[in-house]
Amino acid sequence: MTTEYDDKGFATRSVRAGQKRTNEREQSEPIFPTSSYVFDSAAQAAARFSGDESGNIYSRFTNPTVRTFEQRLASLEGAESAVATSSGMSAILSTFMGLLSAGDHIVSSRSIFGTTRVLFDKYLAKFGVTTDYVALTDLEDWQQAIKPNTKALFLETPSNPLNEIADLSALSALAKAHDCLLIVDNCFCTPALQQPIALGADIVVHSATKYIDGQGRCVGGAVVGDAQLVGEEVYGFLRSAGPTMSPFNAWTFLKGLETLSLRMNAHSAAALQLAQWLEQQPQINKVFYAGLPSHPQHELAKQQQSAFGGIIAFEVKGGQSGAWTLVNATRWLSITANLGDTKTTITHPATTTHSRLTDEDREQAGISDGLLRISVGLENVEDIQVDLQHGLDLL
Ligand SMILES: *Cc1c(COP(=O)(O)O)cnc(C)c1O
Repeated sequence: MTTEYDDKGFATRSVRAGQKRTNEREQSEPIFPTSSYVFDSAAQAAARFSGDESGNIYSRFTNPTVRTFEQRLASLEGAESAVATSSGMSAILSTFMGLLSAGDHIVSSRSIFGTTRVLFDKYLAKFGVTTDYVALTDLEDWQQAIKPNTKALFLETPSNPLNEIADLSALSALAKAHDCLLIVDNCFCTPALQQPIALGADIVVHSATKYIDGQGRCVGGAVVGDAQLVGEEVYGFLRSAGPTMSPFNAWTFLKGLETLSLRMNAHSAAALQLAQWLEQQPQINKVFYAGLPSHPQHELAKQQQSAFGGIIAFEVKGGQSGAWTLVNATRWLSITANLGDTKTTITHPATTTHSRLTDEDREQAGISDGLLRISVGLENVEDIQVDLQHGLDLL
């Protein structure tokens, strides 16, 4: 793609790709808090507006700090182009507004972020784009749901919260055979652990709010892919509709990218240790973590991810009452629905993130009343275990 570091290793690109030093010779990337840019002359202004000359005009279109973040992320995902957005949701919205038209159809995994489902069912549907849902891991289900007007397959892998794994190469072949796009929300792995474009995905979307920031500070997102689909069509929607990323947030995410693979490997190592420990606790029925040999897609996860990530789900005995007892007995774990933070968080999906689903949809999604999700942070695993033990002792 477009940075001079693209032939370097992942860690080098994470730290260096996309940076263009100004005449001040700054070591760290500057923040450009400016809404517009000045021209040398009336003729230059005209040339910029006509597109005869490339360059900055207005920060809804381009901003140097945001551009650095976009180029660095594109380089890490192995893509030609990236556009940064104000949130993960606006990344998903911009993708579909840029690429689909009324009458088009989406086939989506059922196991997706709840708000993405609201976006599809309530808002895209208003403009004549319809969506059907399938089981993430059932290739035949995907195949049968594809119609002549299907334009996109959409999924998250690993899924939230059960860690189901989609076979990206197989789904890419299916998408290509039916002339539709494979769009992957790579929020849980980030490019540090999984690069869907190398496995055949056309577009990757991100909530940068989660692991890309990684420290719970900013809301943001991105769409990554080739120069035509993302650099032209998704970007075209973005500059017209305006859900752009602020320069301050872009700078925060740039600093997040610099430590991304260190953090993702540390989250993964801690999560594996915690999952193995949870699996031994008599008060727990089942642990859902793709790093465990007991997970049905453990082998597939090993093939397409370099580690298993920081999210664990587990089902405690005693249903909702058991789950709430455990949550309420913790002394310092953060009770919050967010994830991907340095601070470990604990969530009861059935009454929070998945509470808007009907009972039937929740059951189909495998979200039982006793299920808990932990986003494993960067504290000492032994301390997390002690805090969970307070609740396990009560069950
Ligand atoms: C949080 C999240 C989103 C939405 O991102 P926001 O930054 O909150 O808008 C989309 N997909 C997944 C998988 C998420 O976890």
